[in-house]
Amino acid sequence: MATKVKAKAVVRKGKPAQASAKGKKWVYLFGEVKAAEKYAGSWEGVRSLLGGKGSGLADMTRAGVPVPPGFTVTTEACNGFRTTGKFPAGMWEQALVAMKQTEKATGKKFGDANNPLLVSCRSGAKFSMPGMMNTILNIGLNDEVVDGMIKLTNNPRFVWDLYRRLIEMFGTTVFNLDDEIFEHPMAEYKASNGYKVDTEMTAEDWQALVSTFKAVFTKHVGFDFPQDVYKQLEYAIKAVFESWMGKRAIDYRRATGISDDLGTAVNIQTMVFGNMGDDSGTGVAFTRNPSTGDQKMMGEYLLNAQGEDVVAGIRNADPIEHLVGSMPKVYKQFMDITKKLEKHYKDMQDVEFTIERGKLYMLQTRNGKRTAKSTVKIAVDMAKEKLISKEEAVLRITPETVDALLHPQFDESAMKKAENDGAFFAKGVNASPGAAVGQVYFDADTTEKMTKEHKQDTIMVRPFTKPDDVHGMIASQGVLTSEGGATSHAAVVARQFGIPCVVGASAIKIDLEKRHMTVGDVVVKEGDWISVDGNTGKVFIGKIPTTAPSLEEQTELLTLLTWADEISARKGVRVGPKGYPTRGLQVWANADYPKDAQRARAYGAVGIGLCRTEHMFFEPERLPIVQRMILSETSEERTNALNELLPYQRKDFDGLFEAMDGYPVIIRLIDPPLHEFMPDEEKLLEEVITMRVKGETEGLKAKEDLLVAIKGMHESNPMMGMRGVRLSISMPEIVEMQVRAIFEAAADCTLRKIVVKPEVMIPLTGTVKELEWIQPRLVRIAAAVMDEKKVKFEYKFGTMIEIPRAAVTAAEIAKYAEFFSFGTNDLTQMTYGYSRDDAERNFLITYQEQGILEKNPFQTIDRGGVGKLMDWAIAEGRKSRPTLEVGICGEHGGDPDSIEWCHIIGNNYVSCSPFRVPIARLAAAHASLKHAGKKIAEDK
Ligand code: ADP
Ligand code: MG
Ligand code: MG
Repeated sequence: MATKVKAKAVVRKGKPAQASAKGKKWVYLFGEVKAAEKYAGSWEGVRSLLGGKGSGLADMTRAGVPVPPGFTVTTEACNGFRTTGKFPAGMWEQALVAMKQTEKATGKKFGDANNPLLVSCRSGAKFSMPGMMNTILNIGLNDEVVDGMIKLTNNPRFVWDLYRRLIEMFGTTVFNLDDEIFEHPMAEYKASNGYKVDTEMTAEDWQALVSTFKAVFTKHVGFDFPQDVYKQLEYAIKAVFESWMGKRAIDYRRATGISDDLGTAVNIQTMVFGNMGDDSGTGVAFTRNPSTGDQKMMGEYLLNAQGEDVVAGIRNADPIEHLVGSMPKVYKQFMDITKKLEKHYKDMQDVEFTIERGKLYMLQTRNGKRTAKSTVKIAVDMAKEKLISKEEAVLRITPETVDALLHPQFDESAMKKAENDGAFFAKGVNASPGAAVGQVYFDADTTEKMTKEHKQDTIMVRPFTKPDDVHGMIASQGVLTSEGGATSHAAVVARQFGIPCVVGASAIKIDLEKRHMTVGDVVVKEGDWISVDGNTGKVFIGKIPTTAPSLEEQTELLTLLTWADEISARKGVRVGPKGYPTRGLQVWANADYPKDAQRARAYGAVGIGLCRTEHMFFEPERLPIVQRMILSETSEERTNALNELLPYQRKDFDGLFEAMDGYPVIIRLIDPPLHEFMPDEEKLLEEVITMRVKGETEGLKAKEDLLVAIKGMHESNPMMGMRGVRLSISMPEIVEMQVRAIFEAAADCTLRKIVVKPEVMIPLTGTVKELEWIQPRLVRIAAAVMDEKKVKFEYKFGTMIEIPRAAVTAAEIAKYAEFFSFGTNDLTQMTYGYSRDDAERNFLITYQEQGILEKNPFQTIDRGGVGKLMDWAIAEGRKSRPTLEVGICGEHGGDPDSIEWCHIIGNNYVSCSPFRVPIARLAAAHASLKHAGKKIAEDK
């Protein structure tokens, strides 16, 4: 099983070999994997050509794993069929040849009643789309073959059962008939004979049902079930090709971002039978637990059953461990094979197998779908097992995975309380983790409609789910089923999409007609609220509050993030001109309060990139002083008010420095326009008018004066008016007080042996002259405080770069500023000339739909414009000050794509909300790995 074939990049310009489609190879035997590799150029290419299932079967065949013989019709043939509606020239002839070779390999003959070969026709795209496309089993049966097979096997019950399955599958998958058309007469037949389960059906019963099914088929399709086995094969292959463009498959691709152009391959494979008695069986297994990641196989099997029986959750399957008792040899062989497969693919495998009369066959292997939790645990475990490197482990985790792990969970105590209050409803299998709260709906269409049109949070509840329920599942907050186990359809799909899910809550009786479900005499009606806990499998009536999970408890994630930090910290990850960092990005956080700073530290931030000080002015006991300060008529009055504020500010900063002991803390001086601290003008006017009308005089004068003052402060575009450094130059007393508070707090902390690294950030600079005016005054205050307190510590003065002019003139700005921090929200607004609120409300969606903007530039940095300005600013800034420290503190600091850009252009750090710090740490490591060793200037 050689994995990646290191072939030269094969560029097939103009596809000369395909000039005549007839000469092209459309069909590969499972044994022809070498030829496929040669043609496709890489293993990735083979997967595109033969699909995931086909390439897996071929790869297993090469490794000597027992796989029933067969062949694959390529995805290229599917794409040909899709455009013309016909098999491409030569394809069918090649399939016939491959059939002959399969006959040879098995010693059986397709359509020969004396020694029949039966095959399955299985779909399989490059990326697995479980259950989304068609598969038909038992092809090659007709009336004659049935007779012959009964003689051969002496098992008429088995053969008639196969035949009725074939007719049913043909009807439903090839001719799109409703399942019900077959299920209904079957249920009726069973009921009239007093049978409860299929196993009670006798040979005669199945035979009778075959007649019924044939009649049903003829009635609905318009002709008899085809007796020509090659006609069956042709129909089946076409049906699989067509299923690629079926609604189910298209919906699934939209939801998972798989391209329509890939097409599906078709696998024709010799049937093996798990339903030949109690020495036969079929099952599915994951080599590790797909929900928790535990290093223990999780699988289920059924004796005397075929194909879909396990996955469909129709009969209750046995856990795989039980196989060791009934078939110890097969069990051991199975464990050996799966272990080998895991080693080979270096990933958790999801396998299908069938045992025919004591002989094991592998029918599929693929990288298993799994939860976020399991993804991280498996990656970390595999790195520890030395199956993969740490770098690979880090690369395997996507930012979305980390995001999912930090998503809310039910509050423990709230859950206990609900239990005590009698809100517990039922318990099932915890199939996919997470907390879901929503209104109950009993079918996929209603669930989707209520979510999309009525904007409700919904929980989809079904006895079990089928592929055509997926749109409802995706729309819902969570899924609950009363039947099925951990490998049932509902469980697999929910895990893949990260939807909390509980399956097999068998105490629940669902009444789809009355639109309610019951446990005992407790009734939950459609539209009622429930809470579904995918972690414990418990379901509650009503809404249970959720909380953010703690990172400290997620040991594997912590380990992974530590590896990520190691990777980012490697010297030589970046190579750049003088002053550029040689390591990867650091991750800092935006935090205004000590408690945010503590969370930031807990989440792994190594600095505060933005502390906004204006929040501190809004506290109820401070706001009146702030307002008095603003309304002051003389500088002296103002200073007096500010002196009252000083102790408050000092205390705020003290807490922040203490929480960030040893790490830099960037504090931004006051930024917003002053009117934001004043009462609302309209409201005040209303009050004044009311007082006048009522003739109330007490306090009227003060209100009138205030109104006049506020009117005087009115600006027509305050966001571009007197704020930021402009305000500080007009009214320096405020920032002078702030700087004093910062340095007094820093000095006090130093005296308490706390290591402080304050960095004072001046917002909204547009010209160096502004810094030239304000910065020396502030530095003098800093020096004075240190003198007064007789301490010394590191500090910096710097500026935000959020006005395009500042970016353009960065070389001059950096003569004063010791650090830059990109305020990419404002920088984006001003570079595009969009006001964010207006843009997002009015035209941004249209722009994205029309392809004018590829992404929302407020979420992801616009590399071509805003990003270029940043790049220029850094380069220019470092030219005049090589030690310039560069960061970003806008929302973009937590966006993986923007983080990559910051790595490329030579930022020292990114700063984001504490909650996004883990994601940013991962993204920083990804950027380091992706661009390792590349020259900064050449890497853009
Ligand atoms: P899906 O992609 O929906 O899982 P598959 O092609 O894997 O569809 O087939 C559906 C079921 O039929 C699986 O359980 C598979 O193991 C079984 N099956 C497919 N081909 C054969 C075969 N040749 N012999 C026995 N069982 C088969
Ligand atoms: Mg399968
Ligand atoms: Mg700003």
